[in-house]
Amino acid sequence: MKSLGSIRRDFAPWNDPSAKPYIQFDKVTKKFGDFTAVNNLSLTIFEREFFALLGASGCGKSTLLRMLAGFEEPSAGRILLDGQDLRGIPPYKRPVNMMFQSYALFPHMTVEKNIAFGLKQEGMPGSDIDKRVAEMLKLVKLEQFAKRKPHQLSGGQRQRVALARSVAKRPKVLLLDEPLGALDKKLREETQFELMDLQQELGLTFVVVTHDQEEAMTMADRIAIMDKGEVMQVATPAEIYEAPTSRFVAHFVGNVNMFEGRVAERTADTTRITGATGAQIVVDNGGAATAGSDIVFAIRPEKIKVSSKKPADAVNALEGEVYDVAYLGDMTVYHIKLDDGQMVRASAMNASRVTEDPLTWNDRAWVSFRPDAGVVLTR
Ligand code: ATP
Repeated sequence: MKSLGSIRRDFAPWNDPSAKPYIQFDKVTKKFGDFTAVNNLSLTIFEREFFALLGASGCGKSTLLRMLAGFEEPSAGRILLDGQDLRGIPPYKRPVNMMFQSYALFPHMTVEKNIAFGLKQEGMPGSDIDKRVAEMLKLVKLEQFAKRKPHQLSGGQRQRVALARSVAKRPKVLLLDEPLGALDKKLREETQFELMDLQQELGLTFVVVTHDQEEAMTMADRIAIMDKGEVMQVATPAEIYEAPTSRFVAHFVGNVNMFEGRVAERTADTTRITGATGAQIVVDNGGAATAGSDIVFAIRPEKIKVSSKKPADAVNALEGEVYDVAYLGDMTVYHIKLDDGQMVRASAMNASRVTEDPLTWNDRAWVSFRPDAGVVLTR
């Protein structure tokens, strides 16, 4: 079965026309003075979804989160939660909680007191608080650290306390702004999986803001790629990677080769492209491109095969020279300079310990790829 869907195969409410949206940004604009941080943005998030807002610094993703939490109000447009317009509802009355980074823990309070803090403020009876705190400690596997203070914990453990504190009140939606920013790479990866497990276990809706594409790809059911206050694409990680709809998104996530060209011929199942420097490329899906239009053909490095001889059956094969080779252990990355001058990046997994067709600097080489290996972009 071919799929560009989500990893959680049984969860895809965005494909179900009868599914009810849970969080709706409806033509939301946020201005700070003359500056537009969020521009007429519409977005739908479903219940129990793990949703990521991904974008470069300053693109407006935190502002979006802060409006959902109620720390800011939109300048125009509406934000709905479960059908209810949130305008005017103060943060503490929204079924939404924001998880702050671990350095926002109270340093003088023990782990259990940190977790209990919000519940106490809410006026929950003491015995209920004890029960809830015990439940939370178990959930984040910190039972034996209940009496410690934050400085007696590792970074990852502190992060788990922050998480326990923010879900203790059982919000329906948890907002996480760069939740793992303070952790080192290894711990980040571990914590990403923990967060996913926790989200599944609690059945909450998570909206996470990150500028780290790997983090978004790992955790999210769907990702919204943002640029300058607008959403460029909303899709599953696999769709974002394999079927970007714009140059911006193709560039933003992962490595990509871009061939500028013009559509020379377009039929129902074949699109022939003439590259800016004469290369001919045939693809089996031209998207929205029409004959004569200027387009970009985008193809990921791992979809390109590098060989010393022209593969006999290749539909697309371009000749050049090995410009750079980097052996990374699990894979080898080639930079091939095509005879028309274009540089192509190709990567090959080192599935066996020896290579059949070794290539080195300045060798003549062919790059080849299948007609379905890339996408044609019109914007
Ligand atoms: P980062 O990853 O750096 O946090 P971001 O995508 O979360 O970036 P936002 O914090 O949403 O970005 O900010 C978007 C834009 O709005 C930025 O250019 C920022 O300077 C501006 N901005 C945010 N808050 C305010 C404010 N209170 N007053 C004026 N400008 C603001």
